[in-house]
Amino acid sequence: MIGFFNYTPDLFWPIKDLMRVMWLLLSIGWVIFGLGAFSLLGGCSKSKEEKARVLNYVGFESYVDTFVDSSKKNHRPLEVSELVIRFGTAEEVKEKSKVSAALAICTTGSEVPTIVVDQQWWENKLPSLTESKSVAEEILFHELGHCLLNRKHLDGTAPGKEIPGSIMYPKYIPGKIYAENKQEYYRELFTGVWAVLRLFEENLALSKAPISYQTETEESTVD
Ligand SMILES: [Zn+2]
Repeated sequence: MIGFFNYTPDLFWPIKDLMRVMWLLLSIGWVIFGLGAFSLLGGCSKSKEEKARVLNYVGFESYVDTFVDSSKKNHRPLEVSELVIRFGTAEEVKEKSKVSAALAICTTGSEVPTIVVDQQWWENKLPSLTESKSVAEEILFHELGHCLLNRKHLDGTAPGKEIPGSIMYPKYIPGKIYAENKQEYYRELFTGVWAVLRLFEENLALSKAPISYQTETEESTVD
């Protein structure tokens, strides 16, 4: 019996050691799992933050709304899922655009399409221009053309007119000219075609369905 009692601890010690080792392994496992879960949670909250930053154009909503609305009217419906429009300094705009007279600049690439507007100019100089609302729109639509439509600059005049033929004209279009030809500029921006398509579509609408024609009529009375 004594021998048995003496023997028993020797028999169970390795088992106890094994249990200790298992307990240790289990603890390490929990720690690793915990760290993994934590980093996953961290990842989720990070992507949430990024999503919140992706669509941010506070103060410029009306321009983006008009842009999207115009895309629909010109049969190129656009959904804006990623865009940032924000103010910056004149130096930042000039540095990004590498043009000394730039008022706003669009940057794309791997980042969220971002438009930086020269705040000083927007708040102090723009209001004093004639047709300042049209000028503001023209500037932003030009940049939105780069950022959302992937359009490049386009030189040249409109068919039969001595005015720039596109919002993507590399230089500033006087506000009065832009305002007087706004529908044509919209059309060209989304379709790449000046007024020719309008004539074509009106004829098509008259001969087939009234929907497009009515849209055109409504559209031309907006301004
Ligand atoms: Zn440009």
